[in-house]
Amino acid sequence: MPSLTDPLVVITDLDGSLLDHHTYSWQPAVPWLDRLKAHHIPVVFCSSKTTAEIVPLQESMGLSGTPFIAENGALLQLDGELSGRIMGQDYAAVRAAMERLRQEYGFKFFGFGDVDEKLVGEWTGLSAQDALLAQRRQASEAFIWRESDERLRDFTDLLAKEGLAVTQGGRFYHVMSQGSSKGAAVRRLLQHYRQQDGRPWQSIGLGDGPNDISLLDAVDYAVIIRGYTKTPVTVSPQQRYVYRTNAYGPEGWCEGMDYFITSA
Ligand SMILES: [Mg+2]
Repeated sequence: MPSLTDPLVVITDLDGSLLDHHTYSWQPAVPWLDRLKAHHIPVVFCSSKTTAEIVPLQESMGLSGTPFIAENGALLQLDGELSGRIMGQDYAAVRAAMERLRQEYGFKFFGFGDVDEKLVGEWTGLSAQDALLAQRRQASEAFIWRESDERLRDFTDLLAKEGLAVTQGGRFYHVMSQGSSKGAAVRRLLQHYRQQDGRPWQSIGLGDGPNDISLLDAVDYAVIIRGYTKTPVTVSPQQRYVYRTNAYGPEGWCEGMDYFITSA
């Protein structure tokens, strides 16, 4: 088990994990965040949220300048970089492909690019102002599906021919480039840390949804936070260190950290 004095990076999902699913509060995790900061352990957000949403959240938690992974892994921002790197097709290309398929096959879905900030606010519980930040997308599209699962499979197959993949988050489905995922971005991030100073960086990952599975598989220690999605979160059998929390959201986050990190 890692200790607070080891080279350690914490990689965490936000909604339903570090942030409460309903209130978006991270208050219960503040004591742990303070301990990590005191030991210079980076807390890397790995979220379906956009850069425009993540940067102010980092500021609120005193984590400005820390690397982050946005839009489900479609975008990776390392430290010292002015702007994040897009791991595949950009937002305009993703939208164009979805639009073409809708025109041709009549698929019924609502993407963030189809609606105004008021409706995105209703879907998410965000204020209209915060919803605008969620709409400022760079490399993936979030959408609500309005047809059968079978039609969703058809849509997914057709998107695959365009080099795009569909992943399921806590509230929305997401379209992004094939091969990009939270896990792929996490592996790239860990490579960056290890190359930077040659130290044997260990990683602990925390997530609550099916879109966190690749993240949980890419880290040394996986915390599956109790969540609300009906799809079970099951990590690869190769993942040796897995802990499932009893508590939801930030309380579960602390429970997982208590389990894996031995006090120095
Ligand atoms: Mg989540």
